[in-house]
Amino acid sequence: MTQSINHLETKLIHAAGNVKGDPVTGAVNTPIYLSSTFHQKSFDTFGDFDYSRSGNPTKQIVEEKIAELEGGARGLAFASGMAAISSAFFLLSAGDHVVVTKDVYGGTYRFVTEVLNKYAIDFTFVDMTDLTETAQAIQSNTKVIYMETPSNPCLNITDISALIRIAHANNCLAFVDNTFMTPLYQNPIALGADLVLHSATKFLSGHSDIIAGLAVTKTKELGEQLAFIQNSFGSILGAQDAYQLIQGIKTLGTRMKQSTKSAEKIANYLEENPIVEAVYYPGLATHPGHTIHRSQSTGDGAVLSLKLPTKEATRIFVENVRIPVFAVSLGAVESILSYPSTMSHAAMPKAEREKRGITDGLLRFSVGLEYVDDLIADFDQALTTVKNSTTNQAELLHNASF
Ligand SMILES: *Cc1c(COP(=O)(O)O)cnc(C)c1O
Repeated sequence: MTQSINHLETKLIHAAGNVKGDPVTGAVNTPIYLSSTFHQKSFDTFGDFDYSRSGNPTKQIVEEKIAELEGGARGLAFASGMAAISSAFFLLSAGDHVVVTKDVYGGTYRFVTEVLNKYAIDFTFVDMTDLTETAQAIQSNTKVIYMETPSNPCLNITDISALIRIAHANNCLAFVDNTFMTPLYQNPIALGADLVLHSATKFLSGHSDIIAGLAVTKTKELGEQLAFIQNSFGSILGAQDAYQLIQGIKTLGTRMKQSTKSAEKIANYLEENPIVEAVYYPGLATHPGHTIHRSQSTGDGAVLSLKLPTKEATRIFVENVRIPVFAVSLGAVESILSYPSTMSHAAMPKAEREKRGITDGLLRFSVGLEYVDDLIADFDQALTTVKNSTTNQAELLHNASF
């Protein structure tokens, strides 16, 4: 990498050695190596690649790219975010214990509570906005502190540096799920994290077209351990998907900044609307984690959540909103409206969900690249319908009592 490349926006396009394209042909795009196996030229010395489960040249480019973007020693590309996350947890051994943020991604919650426990790896969920509670949960066998910030779906903010200090003072590794911020806005390794995880299905690829996961380790040694697990499990990203991810990453800077700007405007609009009971967005000065977030991130991101008064109000809103798709997932060019209770957090029992603020009125909104005023006008007409129908209901109830 030449010295003139100091900015992440430039690295998104040119990182991983191929500053001027493919060294063999000059192709500006990374070649897709659809080859499971590689011919070995000599009887006793093998080349860089032997079998694509252990390594593939297209996959390697995206791995080098994410390692450079996150400032880590080693990057690894997985078949999904969950493949990266579960492989990272398999760095542990039977008898170990992990401390996990209580509002972790629903799939991570399921993995920790229903898979990891079968291998005698114990867990404690804590409110990581509370440093004392987190420190008190550490046991003599605790090996990992697992954080996710901003968290999903209530956008709670964890003080990454403070938790890393607690982790390292107790000989624990610090893992951070950086999906919501991406390396554009947040660099946990620069703050001392040992392992950073991504669902690259979201902002990094950005087009709702592939399922992918990435992991970056601070040290080469941890990277080797994780590569060993990946090769043993076989949960690798295919060459075709690796190519698509490389293409998606190139436009991350522009997409993320545009969506963030729109998210800010939408959050402000929602905060002013009386039907909306609460808006969760780290960019709002009213957000309890606002100051910590601004101290550790350079952007507020493109995901926000809103709380409507009832399940019925939420249903009316979802049925009337026209532009966003109503779907699982986030971080794409199209805006995505999700209902965490039955979507991302369906794997969590209702009582656990409610403890985390995931009520029947909570909606998550991932802001895409549509013109922001169109999105606001759309929300406005849907919220007006909610308002009118709840007023009608109140009137009906009132009339019925006579
Ligand atoms: C989607 C998501 C995951 C899981 O990633 P997949 O690619 O769906 O396996 C993990 N963490 C967060 C924060 C996510 O949003």
